[in-house]
Amino acid sequence: MLNLIFSFDYHMKTKSALSFVSFIIVLTFSTLLYGQDNSKFVVVLDAGHGGRDSGTPGTKRYKSAEKDIALDVTLALGKLINRNLPNVKVLYTRTKDVYPTLNGRAVLANEKKADLFISIHCNAQPGGKGNAYGSETFVLGLHKNAANLEVAKRENSVIYQEENYEETYKDFNPNSTESILTLMLAQEDYLDHSIELANFIETEFKVTGKRKSRGVKQAGLYVLAYTYMPSVLVELGFLTNRREEDYLNSKKGKQIMTKSLFNAIKKYVNINYKQSTNTSIQNETPSDLSKESLIFEDIVFKVQVAASSRKLDPKPYNFKGLNEISRANEGSLYKYFYGNTSDYFEAKVLVEEAKAKGYQSSFVVAFKDGHQVKVAEVLKSKVN
Ligand SMILES: [Zn+2]
Repeated sequence: MLNLIFSFDYHMKTKSALSFVSFIIVLTFSTLLYGQDNSKFVVVLDAGHGGRDSGTPGTKRYKSAEKDIALDVTLALGKLINRNLPNVKVLYTRTKDVYPTLNGRAVLANEKKADLFISIHCNAQPGGKGNAYGSETFVLGLHKNAANLEVAKRENSVIYQEENYEETYKDFNPNSTESILTLMLAQEDYLDHSIELANFIETEFKVTGKRKSRGVKQAGLYVLAYTYMPSVLVELGFLTNRREEDYLNSKKGKQIMTKSLFNAIKKYVNINYKQSTNTSIQNETPSDLSKESLIFEDIVFKVQVAASSRKLDPKPYNFKGLNEISRANEGSLYKYFYGNTSDYFEAKVLVEEAKAKGYQSSFVVAFKDGHQVKVAEVLKSKVN
């Protein structure tokens, strides 16, 4: 038993060291790329299934299946982005009725150094029948209930139809907690952004789409586990529910779902992607975020603006005019924070303010009962 724990720990350390080295390589490389290209924000849109893999057939009253609806919405979404967000480059994993492997989809997104990966699907109740309806957006994680596990099983099951799946997917076991936790470690840097986007998407479905949102959820989904960027998998609705199937097959339904997804992506890009040379996107931020809130009652969010061995008075004149500065001491290091709020979205707005003052590497930190906790952990508490 002890041996097992040791080797697990050892493995983790080696893994972290390796991740760190690859992080540095990626950092260097992406800096190079940034210089070469005009560095658009790259979104990979992944229409689920395709070709011989139809996904769920729904109630079978329609010729179209999950793969067709997913493709229609994906292509319409790409068009909308291309027309309205000039700083965003759209890439597709498929534009026709063909089947790219799950591994191939993730590899494409990784090779293209995408900033965001969005996989679009439709849901089904086990057995092909039932009244369940509404949208769900998944991020990578351990499923918290049987229904989430069912979604993971269904969406991953296509793996077993691929050639050489034993070899390609040998490290992936969605039924193993340890396997998922290991994969989540590699994803830690992206998980908070994935949850942020997932929240935007579900909010848009509710507010713009007037649809029922079943919320943001976690499951061990392959395409989310192997894409090294913020990634979500959207279930637009249940094709096993007649009304929802009618809606998702209708032109109007597809348009509304597409528009909702577009709004969420636009919001995400506005908040997370700034390019000093371009103003068309910048002008809109961060005002649209300040209208919304995501409150965590027992949490205080602050923005870390600096860390230094120098002890400074937390006064505006020491921090380029930012007020509400607080200081914390960690060994010989002093950390300086701006703001104090329980609203995560407000904290993101504060980051923008700090960056505008010149604190380019500002980021959100979270405290619970006076102790610093991981922001991703806090955000996860809103995930079902
Ligand atoms: Zn699917």
